[in-house]
Amino acid sequence: MLSVADVEVTYPNGVMALLPTNATFRRGGFFVLLGTSGAGKSTLLRCLNGLVRPTRGDVLSEDRGSIFSSRSALRAHRRRTGMVFQQHHLIGRLTVLQNVLMGRLCEYGTLRSMLPLPRADRLLALEALDRVGLADRALHRADQLSGGQQQRVGIARAMAQRPAIMLADEPVASLDPETSLKVLGDLHRICREDGITAIVSLHQVDLARRFADHIMGLSLGNIVFQGGPEQLSTSALDKIYKTASPSLSEAAE
Ligand code: ADP
Repeated sequence: MLSVADVEVTYPNGVMALLPTNATFRRGGFFVLLGTSGAGKSTLLRCLNGLVRPTRGDVLSEDRGSIFSSRSALRAHRRRTGMVFQQHHLIGRLTVLQNVLMGRLCEYGTLRSMLPLPRADRLLALEALDRVGLADRALHRADQLSGGQQQRVGIARAMAQRPAIMLADEPVASLDPETSLKVLGDLHRICREDGITAIVSLHQVDLARRFADHIMGLSLGNIVFQGGPEQLSTSALDKIYKTASPSLSEAAE
């Protein structure tokens, strides 16, 4: 279980991105964060892996307590937390396998990571690629793959880390609807199979309804809705998207 307790984030420029927020992410759940741009979804995700340190409050990991209690606690938390980004951040001139192996580097110190990684790591990376259906592309350059395939490589790289928690920030925002469905379906299936707690921000309400166990709706730094997909009514969508144009929630319905 992962939780945020009274977490508040004010950036140095004075923007209050998260108002005091409490939320619990139970182990193995697939959580979706919904909200307009600027609602605070990325900030919440970045707090959950310690990239952003809350101005107040704390992030608590299972029975280990605060992820910020020491540098080693934060490192340990990051090792068990995989990240998937909208732009997948692959290195185009490297092979797909080399990119996935980056997910193993967290296990090694800086100097050791400059040497070739052991065979066991390469096998883990290949296994991760196989699970997203791309084992046959392992030796291709990453920039030769389609957008959907590149995002699958991003997922495989995070999986190669063998995470207990997976955080994904708009992982399918730059993909077409059909590819989005498949890529998110892969992420959902793998997290389910491995009992990984997934917290995923999305802007597609239909995908949230389809895959989430639990949805959290954010608006202006507040969690304004929490519930299962079946509870995501028109009025709940209005609350989440009230800062956007009125037609947005209607369109999302
Ligand atoms: P979302 O992911 O829902 O689009 P964000 O968490 O990125 O929302 O942003 C929430 C608010 O915080 C926005 O007003 C945004 O401009 C601001 N913000 C985000 N990151 C930073 C930052 N590094 N420095 C200053 N303000 C930021």
